[in-house]
Amino acid sequence: MFRRLTRNVMVGNVGIGSDYPISIQSMTNTDTRDVQATLEQIRKLTEAGCEIVRVAVPDMEAAEALKLIVKGSEIPVVADIHFDYRLALESIKNGVSKVRINPGNIGDKHRVGEVVSAAKDKGIPIRIGVNGGSLEKSLLEKYGGVTGAAIVESAMTHIDLLESCNFEDIIVALKSSDIRLTCEAYALLADRCNYPFHIGLTEAGTAFRGTIKSSMAMGSLLMNGYGDTMRISLTGDPVQEVKVGREILKSLHLRQFGIEFVSCPTCGRCQLNLEKIADELETRLEGVNKPITVAVMGCAVNGPGEAKEADIGIAGGKDSALLFKKGEIVGKYNENEIVDVLYAEIMKL
Ligand code: SF4
Repeated sequence: MFRRLTRNVMVGNVGIGSDYPISIQSMTNTDTRDVQATLEQIRKLTEAGCEIVRVAVPDMEAAEALKLIVKGSEIPVVADIHFDYRLALESIKNGVSKVRINPGNIGDKHRVGEVVSAAKDKGIPIRIGVNGGSLEKSLLEKYGGVTGAAIVESAMTHIDLLESCNFEDIIVALKSSDIRLTCEAYALLADRCNYPFHIGLTEAGTAFRGTIKSSMAMGSLLMNGYGDTMRISLTGDPVQEVKVGREILKSLHLRQFGIEFVSCPTCGRCQLNLEKIADELETRLEGVNKPITVAVMGCAVNGPGEAKEADIGIAGGKDSALLFKKGEIVGKYNENEIVDVLYAEIMKL
């Protein structure tokens, strides 16, 4: 698949840019000042496959807490800063691997320069995060509201400010809750710079709606070659964001995480409880990281074809199923033993 060529930057040990796989990140929703709760959430996110984690830094106490958070986290920690450049300086001092900041919001050039020189000293990048919901008033007036061009102009102002301080370890995010607007903005910015893109849809919604909206937006951006790191925003447990992000990358064959599942929706021809089999198997295989495809199919219409294509699979019959391995039928099993047999065979592969 086409991928836009970009500069590469390092966030801790994770590379971001076209030379590296598209990474998955998330953001904690604990109180950053509560080190224990934040580290516990980071641990769960890491276990789910999160590769970079961002934490909000609303005050100096939170910036100070970063010292312990960075020490206790297995993955790079990013400080999310708004307005106060001193929070950025303290966060950088405390070891974060990246800061997310809008240079234009933190005061005069002298203050921006201080943040830049601290970032340079530590060799960490700065992410510019422009959000359609908080665009400068002057741009809203100039463009008559939030438009792709307005978002890009805002981003370019921030980029120019960093470049004027001779800083180029930049990652850019252009976010809005509107899919078309987000895609339009990234396409416009792609013509203006070669910095890597952090992609995501902001305020996407709760797990169900947010997953659909995010998948459409991310799918469209990724298929056009845009995106070097991704955060799915969902209201609720951030672990869900990581799972959705991984599935999106997996579906487009951009990353390989664990097993690829194929299962049919079932219909009136299905004569076994396929939903139960698929659910049980998926749960048992969570965390099994094998680069294989497993097909769980309901009947003889499409079942044998899909099961043969997969590394292993079943095609359902009456209260039973045929087991296929590497394209060959290797047995017939009763419905109640299928999950155990499939699991055991998959572990042998
Ligand atoms: Fe229906 Fe068979 Fe297709 Fe499943 S594989 S949807 S049971 S026709």
